[in-house]
Amino acid sequence: MNEKLFSLIGILAKNHSLSLDEYEYLIVNRCDEAAKLLAEQADSIRKKIYGNAVYIRGLIEISNICKNDCLYCGIRRSNRHCGRYRLSPEQILNCVDEGYTLGFRTFVFQGGEDFFWGDDILCKLIGRIKEKHGDCAVTLSLGERSRESYERLYRAGADRYLLRHETADREHYRRLHPEDMSFENRMRCLWELQDIGYQVGCGFMVGSPFQSCAFLAEDLKFIETFRPDMCGIGPFIPHRDTPFKGYSPGTVELTCYLLSMIRLIHPPVLLPATTALGTIHPRGREMGIMAGANVVMPNLSPADVRKKYELYNNKICMNEEAAEGKAMLEQRMRTIGYEIVTERGDIKQPAAAQCFSGHADL
Ligand code: SAH
Repeated sequence: MNEKLFSLIGILAKNHSLSLDEYEYLIVNRCDEAAKLLAEQADSIRKKIYGNAVYIRGLIEISNICKNDCLYCGIRRSNRHCGRYRLSPEQILNCVDEGYTLGFRTFVFQGGEDFFWGDDILCKLIGRIKEKHGDCAVTLSLGERSRESYERLYRAGADRYLLRHETADREHYRRLHPEDMSFENRMRCLWELQDIGYQVGCGFMVGSPFQSCAFLAEDLKFIETFRPDMCGIGPFIPHRDTPFKGYSPGTVELTCYLLSMIRLIHPPVLLPATTALGTIHPRGREMGIMAGANVVMPNLSPADVRKKYELYNNKICMNEEAAEGKAMLEQRMRTIGYEIVTERGDIKQPAAAQCFSGHADL
């Protein structure tokens, strides 16, 4: 590893910040040795804050009906081969009850932008869950909405919101989305969610079409500035019925490298080892955790709808029961020295920021 790479990793671990050019340099010039050093630093800083705990979130895919037409996504509006479904509030509550019994204390409701899920019906659903399981966190991942809507959902009890920014570069955003979607609106949503008081997650795909190292550097700068509570990154994986079907998937190697960098940029961030990462490599999620991730999101959706919530092809865990999924992950995490815990797993904001430094004396 060259001198400059080595020194930049030291600065990142110590200051949690680099210039755009330096972020780009770290990505362009990456090598196995640098990846190893970054992962060690990321792991050690994470252990200081979270120990060897891995938090679980029960993912419930509430609908694959979507008014948007994102070029990368398998449930985009114009995919005629996608069999559409929408869970009923009763079905969702059953998934939550089952998850609760298994020890889940965070539920993530994710779906396409489906007009059915207006504020009234969502608020009612959130209210019922909070009433029954007051010790649980409710996370929403339902796309772009108005400020009023986000406010109502927050008042109804929603704690967290996941909305990947997808790319922090305006031009790149335009190439991944149709004309009627905008980078400005995506960013407006993220800043408003944070302002309202949600714990907010942003994120992006690694290896999406047209992505460059310079764009990734912009993503990292955005994360440094926005300071999200959560950050979801996973490899882009092509879906056969989308305009991006011919593009190659992102790599485990670059995803893990970026996970380590993000951990060092914002040490307390909750960072999932995503299902997409587990899809492109049989040990992808383990590798993500070892690179600095500390969250996994097993699927609690009813087995028959999982195949239909197909953002990309070959998604893993399509046929297993919720309980099996959790047991399997517990086993996998134990093998690499981490432990799945059943707390809500809110972000830890240690009072003394200095506890984050001290690793940088390379
Ligand atoms: N409608 C919600 C949820 C989107 S699905 C929203 O807009 O936030 C969740 C995430 O899956 C997306 O944000 C995107 O980053 C990711 N995703 C979509 N298609 C993908 C693909 N082909 N490969 C990998 N990830 C994909």
